[in-house]
Amino acid sequence: MEDVNVDLTVVGGGIAGCAAAIAASRLGLEVALVQDRPVLGGNASSEVGLLMGGAARDFRHTRETGIVEEIDLVNRYHNHEVKWRNSISDATLENLVKEAGVSLYLNTHAYSVEMDTDSSIRAVLAAQLSTEKRFRFVSDLFADSTGDGSIGALSGADFRRGTEARHEFGESLAPEEPTDVTMGSTLMFRVKDLGRPVPFTPPEWAYSYPDPGDLPRRVKSLYNHQLWIEFGARRDTISENMEIREELLKILYGVWDHIKNHGDYGAENFALSWVGSVPGKRESRRLVGDYTLSQKDVTDPTEYGDAVAYGGWPIDVHNPDGFYATERWLDYTHLEKPYPIPYRCYYSRNIDNLFMAGRIISATHVAHGSIRLIRTCGVGGQAVGTAAYVCNKHGRIPRELGEGHIKELQQQLLKYDCHIPGVVNEDPGDLARRASVSASSEYEDPATGVIHSADKVIDGLSRGREGDENLWMSKPISMYRPAYIQLEWEEPITCNTIHLTFDTMIREQKFFKTFRLGAMPTCVRDYTISYLDTAGEWEDLSSRKGNFQRHNIVRFNPITTRAIRVTVEKTNGDRLARIYEVRVYNEPGE
Ligand SMILES: Cc1cc2nc3c(=O)[nH]c(=O)nc-3n(C[C@H](O)[C@H](O)[C@H](O)COP(=O)(O)OP(=O)(O)OC[C@H]3O[C@@H](n4cnc5c(N)ncnc54)[C@H](O)[C@@H]3O)c2cc1C
Repeated sequence: MEDVNVDLTVVGGGIAGCAAAIAASRLGLEVALVQDRPVLGGNASSEVGLLMGGAARDFRHTRETGIVEEIDLVNRYHNHEVKWRNSISDATLENLVKEAGVSLYLNTHAYSVEMDTDSSIRAVLAAQLSTEKRFRFVSDLFADSTGDGSIGALSGADFRRGTEARHEFGESLAPEEPTDVTMGSTLMFRVKDLGRPVPFTPPEWAYSYPDPGDLPRRVKSLYNHQLWIEFGARRDTISENMEIREELLKILYGVWDHIKNHGDYGAENFALSWVGSVPGKRESRRLVGDYTLSQKDVTDPTEYGDAVAYGGWPIDVHNPDGFYATERWLDYTHLEKPYPIPYRCYYSRNIDNLFMAGRIISATHVAHGSIRLIRTCGVGGQAVGTAAYVCNKHGRIPRELGEGHIKELQQQLLKYDCHIPGVVNEDPGDLARRASVSASSEYEDPATGVIHSADKVIDGLSRGREGDENLWMSKPISMYRPAYIQLEWEEPITCNTIHLTFDTMIREQKFFKTFRLGAMPTCVRDYTISYLDTAGEWEDLSSRKGNFQRHNIVRFNPITTRAIRVTVEKTNGDRLARIYEVRVYNEPGE
C-alpha cells in the first residue's frame, strides 16, 4: 500500500471532479484525482459520449463559464467533431488536468475509507487496475464526485435515494408517497453511412421488434442515439448496474435490428459504428448537505447569501418505466429564469471534511432533474475546488467556511470566470475597479443606437443580460488599425497580473447543440498589453497570439504605472474587438 499525502483528494473524474481538482490545484493545493476508468469525463467521456448541457438551453447570456467553458472551448478548438465526446475530448480534458498540476490516478477504484472519528475521513483506499498497486490517499479534505456518492456511503454520510413524498418539500412534481424510483440508465450508440448496403444480423440474445408498434417511440432520426433506450429506474442503479447493462444491450440491438430489417427508415447503407459498454447513469445516491435543494428553489428562485453556482435546465425527470413506458417518456418543466445553488448543498451535513460535487449534491429527486446537467455539475465542481482552497487557507472545515468566508469564496469564483446570479465583482484586490477607462473607439449598434462603451469592462459583470450585451466593442479593426482599451489611475499602481475576459459567444442559447468547431469568431486572437513607464513612454509588457480562450491570465514582473493598454490586433474572425472584463492585480508572491 502506497501512501499519497495531499491537501485534497477528489474521487471521481467526471466533469465535476475534474473541475474541482483543476480549480484547487491551480490555486496551489496538492490535489489527487482518483478515477476508476481509463479516461476522464464520466458521462461526458468517449465511453458514454454525452454533450455538456446547462442553463443556456432556455436562456441567453447564461452559458456556464470558468473551467467548464475552458474544457468546451479547448475541445471545440482541437476536435474534428463535437456531436458527441470522443477520444480527442478525453485527451484534451486529461491534458487540462495534468497542466493544472493535479496528481492523476486513472484506472484507480476507491473501495474503502479510514475514519479519524465517526464524522471525519482520514484516508480513502483505492486499487489500481493493470498495475496491482494499492493507494492510501490521506488528506484534510475529500470531495466525492463519483456520481454514486460512494465515498459518502462508505464514510457514513447521510444520503437520499429515490423520490421524496410530495409533502416533504411541498413538491407538486413528487408522488404522494416516497418511492425507491430513480432515473434509469441508457447505453448510447452511433451509426455511420457507408455509402453501400450493409446487412445487419442481430445477436441471438437481442430482443426482437418486428413491428413499429413493438417500439414505444417513433424512430425520428438515425443519428439521435435513441435516448429513450432507458432502463433501470425501478432497479438499484448501483448494485444492479450489470443487469441493467445487459437489458439495455438486448433492447439496443433489438432496436437497431428493427431499424435495419423491419422498417422503412432509409438505413440500408448504415452500420453500427460504436456501441457504448458503460451505461450512462442518470441517478443513484444524493448526499445530504446542510441545505437540500427542492422544486421550489428551482422554479421559484430565492436569494441565499451563500450561492456559489447556478442551474437553468428544465426539470427533466423521466418516466420510471423508461423504454417500457406507455405514457410520455419525459416531460420538461421549463423555468422562468436560472436559479442559484447555495454552498450548503456542496458539503455533507454529517461528515465534517467531505465535499460533494456533480449529480450527487444535496437535492431532492425533482431538483436533481435540473441540477444533473454536465455544465451545472462543472460549475459546482469549480466551487468545491475553490472552497477547498479557502478552507485550507483559513484552516477551516467546509461548514465553517460557509459561516465566515462565503464572500471570499464567491469573489474568488468570479475572479476565475465563474458566474453567480446576483453577485458582482467587489474584489478589493482588483485595481481595475479604481481606474478610469477609455478606448480607441466604441461601437454604436446601428439598429439600436446602443454604444458598447469602454467602461463596461469594469462594471462588475462579465457577461450580458437580456437586452444588454454589456461588453466593450470597438469599431471594426484591421491589420493597420487595431483597437485598444486603456485603464488610467490618478496615482501610480504596482501590478503583476492582468485578467482578460473575451467574448466566446456565451450569449447564445442551446450552444451545446451547436456543432461549431475551431475558435469562436468573436474571441480576441492576438493582443498586446503595454504600460506607460515613468518617462511617459508606452512599453510593451506582454503579447499573446493564437488565443481562443475566454478567460486569459497574463502574469509579468511587477511594474509601477499610471496607465495600461490592451491592444487587440486580431480576432478569430469578427471585425470588432470585444472584451467583457479587465482585472488588474498585484498578487503576492507572483
Ligand atoms: C443517457 C443520459 C443522457 C444525458 N444527457 C445529458 C446531456 O445531453 N447534457 C448534459 O449536460 N447532461 C446529460 N446527462 C446528465 C449528465 O450526464 C450527468 O448528470 C453528469 O455527467 C454527472 O456528472 P458527474 O461528474 O457528477 O458524474 P459522472 O459523469 O458519472 O462521473 C463520475 C465518475 O466517477 C467515477 N467513479 C465512480 N465511482 C468511483 C470510485 N469508487 N472510484 C473512482 N472513480 C469512481 C466514474 O467512473 C465516473 O467516471 C445525461 C445523462 C444520461 C445518463
